[in-house]
Amino acid sequence: MHITGRCHCGEVTYRAEVDENKVINCHCTDCQIISGAPFRTVVVSKPDAVTFTAAAPKEYIKIAESGNQRAQGFCANCGTALYATSVGEGERVYGLRLGAVEQADELIPKAHIWYRSHKPWLDNLNNMSAFETTPK
Ligand SMILES: [Zn+2]
Ligand SMILES: [Zn+2]
Repeated sequence: MHITGRCHCGEVTYRAEVDENKVINCHCTDCQIISGAPFRTVVVSKPDAVTFTAAAPKEYIKIAESGNQRAQGFCANCGTALYATSVGEGERVYGLRLGAVEQADELIPKAHIWYRSHKPWLDNLNNMSAFETTPK
């Protein structure tokens, strides 16, 4: 599936080919901290199938306890988190952050990963009060 994406300020834009069957919610603690959110939803790109069409993103290299490195791409101006991918040579498969994908409504998550660290209240979402805007 062909998609496009952009950061909040619009300096970084991209187009990509993704596998619409690979949409996942990641509940790992690194995703919680880096996103500032309780979990992060990504769609997986085809290899080397992301093209940046305006400014280049900035990358932060995250080093896991295992020593494994992952590049975390974001807009250097507005800070929108855009993707994670491999470091170094070789083809790059991107985990694109769904919130910055313009076709996000068509991409439905199929699974949770790292669910052992999920926030327990996520099991209770349907029972929470819901408002159309911020209540006064
Ligand atoms: Zn931006
Ligand atoms: Zn994660």
